[in-house]
Parts: sequence; C-alpha cells; structure tokens
Amino acid sequence: MVIYRLPRGESLVYPPSHCPNCDHPIAWWENIPLISFLILRGRCRGCGLPISPRYPLVELAAGLLLIGCYLSYGVSIRLLWSGLLTLSLLPVFFIDLSHQIIPDEIDLPGIGAGLLLSHWTTGLLHSIMGTLLGGGGFLILGFTVSRILKKKALGGGDVKLMAMVGAFLGPIGVLITAFVGALLGAVLGTFWLRLSGRGRDTPIPFGPFLVIGTYIALFWGQEITRWYLHSS
Ligand SMILES: [Zn+2]
Repeated sequence: MVIYRLPRGESLVYPPSHCPNCDHPIAWWENIPLISFLILRGRCRGCGLPISPRYPLVELAAGLLLIGCYLSYGVSIRLLWSGLLTLSLLPVFFIDLSHQIIPDEIDLPGIGAGLLLSHWTTGLLHSIMGTLLGGGGFLILGFTVSRILKKKALGGGDVKLMAMVGAFLGPIGVLITAFVGALLGAVLGTFWLRLSGRGRDTPIPFGPFLVIGTYIALFWGQEITRWYLHSS
C-alpha cells in the first residue's frame, strides 16, 4: 500500500484500503498478510479482479526479513532497530524500481531513527560518522561521476538513502553497502540493459541495489569484515 500510494502523493491513512477497480472496502480479515491472498484466491471479493501478486510478494519479503532480524538478534532493541531498517527499505526498493525516486518521507525520518537508536546499537559516534560518510561520500561521488560522464549519475535520493544506511550501520556498513550495491549494479544493470535491448543511456535506478547491499551489510557485515581482515 505504501509502495503504491507514496509516489502518487496519496495519503497513507485515508481513504482506508479499497479495491482500485471497484472501490470495494477491504475488511480487516481480507487484509491479513499472505493468508488473505490465499483465502481470496488472489481476487477482489467485490469485482473478482485479480489482486496484484506484488502484494503477497512484498508481504512474503517482509516476513522473511523479520525472521532474519529475529534469528540475528532475538527479542531485543536490535530487533526493533533491524526491523525498522529492513522494512523501511522495502518500499524504497520497489518505488525506486518503478518510479526512479526515493521518497524523502522514508529516508529523512530514517536518518533520525538511526541516530536515535545508535545508543543501543552502533554507538552515536559510529552513527554520526556513518551518516557523514554515506551522505557526504555519495554526494562527492555523484558530483565527480557527473562531471566525468557529463550526465546526472546519482540522484539526491541515493545520497539521502546512504546517509540513512550510515546512521543505522556506521561507516563500515556504508562501505559494504556501497561495494555490494556497485557490484550488483554493474553486473545486473548491464545484464538488464542487454535483456531489455535498451541503450546505454537508459537510467538504471541504483536504489534497489543499495537496498540489497544494506541487507547484506546488516546480516553478514561482521563475517565480511572478518573475512576481509584475514585475507588482506
Ligand atoms: Zn474490486
């Protein structure tokens, strides 16, 4: 619902959930993640129009992410912290993929939440350093790449997203996220351009790759750091 409404400038609370085709209001029992989709067999109860498979897909992804957070941190403040980070980046992934924008409504409060929760997680100093490295680093990187390629390279949304990642994960998290994101962007981006037969000038949203990079930095950051320190 957030993914559909936020980029269209629609309110998240009003009107209540309804079918976009027939306006059939969606009762609470028709809105239970995954279960309702199975009960309704993927169709609106009002008009029978198929419900976009994107809804159960996003719900499944959200469920798996929360299970990952729980397995990593148990019931603790870090569960709240990691749950907040992973779930707020899920709409970023899909919105940037379809609309090539990253809404400020997610990353600006995200920076605040990361700094606020840092006391129980990465520590305030790491959180501030991460915010500066993520935001500042991507600002300079975007500016430099734009000058070289003579076209807009990184959006302001990517800069703010990386500031948020830094606020949650600190400077090392920023480096892992940027590295994984760039690697995925280079490999999958090229692959996607080939597959879709589009020209090299087609803008590829970078946000989805950064979101996957953040998940990897969150769940496997320590292993990656340890492996890197031991092999160098
Ligand atoms: Zn309907």
